[in-house]
Amino acid sequence: MTTPRVRFAPSPTGYLHIGGARTAIYNYLYAKANNGTFVLRIEDTDLERSKREYEESQISDLKWLGLDYDEGPDKPGEFGPYRQSERTDLYKEHAQKLVDKGLAYYDFCTDEELEVMREQALKEGRPPHYSGKWRNEEFFEEAANRLAAGEKAAIRFKAPQKPYTLQDSVRGRVVFPQGMVGDFVIMRSNGQPVYNFCVVIDDMLMKITHVIRGEDHVNNSVRQLMLYEAFEATPPEFSHVSLLIGKDRQKLSKRHGATSVNLYREESYLPQSLANYLCLLGWSHPDEEEIFKLEEVQEKFDVTRFSKAAAIYDLVKLKWVNGMHIRKLDNDTLKIELEKFIPEGHAYFSQSDDWKARAIELYKTQIEFFSEFSVRLDENLFKTEIEKTEKLNEVLGWETTKQIHEFLNEKLSSASEFITKDDFTEYFNALKKDLGIKGKQLFMGVRVCLTGQDHGPELGDLVPLTPVEVMKKRLSNLF
Ligand code: GLU
Repeated sequence: MTTPRVRFAPSPTGYLHIGGARTAIYNYLYAKANNGTFVLRIEDTDLERSKREYEESQISDLKWLGLDYDEGPDKPGEFGPYRQSERTDLYKEHAQKLVDKGLAYYDFCTDEELEVMREQALKEGRPPHYSGKWRNEEFFEEAANRLAAGEKAAIRFKAPQKPYTLQDSVRGRVVFPQGMVGDFVIMRSNGQPVYNFCVVIDDMLMKITHVIRGEDHVNNSVRQLMLYEAFEATPPEFSHVSLLIGKDRQKLSKRHGATSVNLYREESYLPQSLANYLCLLGWSHPDEEEIFKLEEVQEKFDVTRFSKAAAIYDLVKLKWVNGMHIRKLDNDTLKIELEKFIPEGHAYFSQSDDWKARAIELYKTQIEFFSEFSVRLDENLFKTEIEKTEKLNEVLGWETTKQIHEFLNEKLSSASEFITKDDFTEYFNALKKDLGIKGKQLFMGVRVCLTGQDHGPELGDLVPLTPVEVMKKRLSNLF
């Protein structure tokens, strides 16, 4: 078996889309699973919309996700160049080969003529396929003369009128009936190649063996299969993976959450979380594992586990996956990462190492993003204003809460910077024993008095981390 060569072929007309990232992940894993080569090819034939800035940003996002490719614009290999805009000569040369073989022809029709042809066909109930004179051999000589005289013409491929079958590892056998496609342009009269043509030339010359891409490309396959046949080349194996949709089953859009990778990056998601989550959207782990790094599944990856159904993009699940990956980080790494997201001058930085370690230990199982950490610190450990919710007011209305308030006020007035967990247990026991307060009255009363909130992490963890000054202010702001 020849070693597989796969490619990810983004168009640099925007930032890396999560759907594109998922395609890249599948190609990367396929290459890794089979000791193959992963190629990055930049499909920038749309000169107006393509921007170098987008290419750079997409490459940077691929690298962030850990999707290192073996060949690409910045990694020259024997099949370069890897930007379509630098391959125009190859497209011209191959288009000419088809003309020479009689499988394509020069077309001098103007846009107006093409429009008249189209309208006529529709009026007569025919498919609007090209029916101009230039497909006929008798005009080839005239065409050659006009070209020699410097006139510009498009090159149009003679689409064979027969059915085509795509053997797809996800979609099965897809039959394209005869007559679906008429003769199509492969090179425009301005010398620019057309997308479906470039893809075939590139995949052929770059010796791509397997194409994994979105289902939206299924219909392009028929033109591509025709071109492989014209070049007497074996098409790659195809896997058209299902599209991503929102929970409302509509096409994924900004309404469903951020759609480009860079935004997740900015929001402090871990690359392994996004890669993990995207990988599972349309592919299933053989042991049904949900939390993994790509390197942990690369050997298990195969194209038989793609799902045919559209994959629902669920931001809540992604956040959960991110939280699970945060828990898997060792505390030293976590500390470094978390600190990148704590605003400069934040009270966190003036605490002791022991305090920091305890805070990290407490919150690592409670946050789903790094950036959430300092928000949670502020909310639970430093904030002194009280938001009087209905539930809070209810607790404040209990007679026992007033007793607790008085007791704690007195205790804290003589406490130093922090109280220990033991001090806290002692207060708690005293409230129980000396004042006879118990159950919900005790738990909620103490929580509301010391945290100013009716919910939050374990009090035994929280209270020793909260500066006594903060708790005192809360006590005085409560009533
Ligand atoms: N450039 C195409 C896209 O961004 C991909 C083409 C392909 O994978 O064949 O959708």
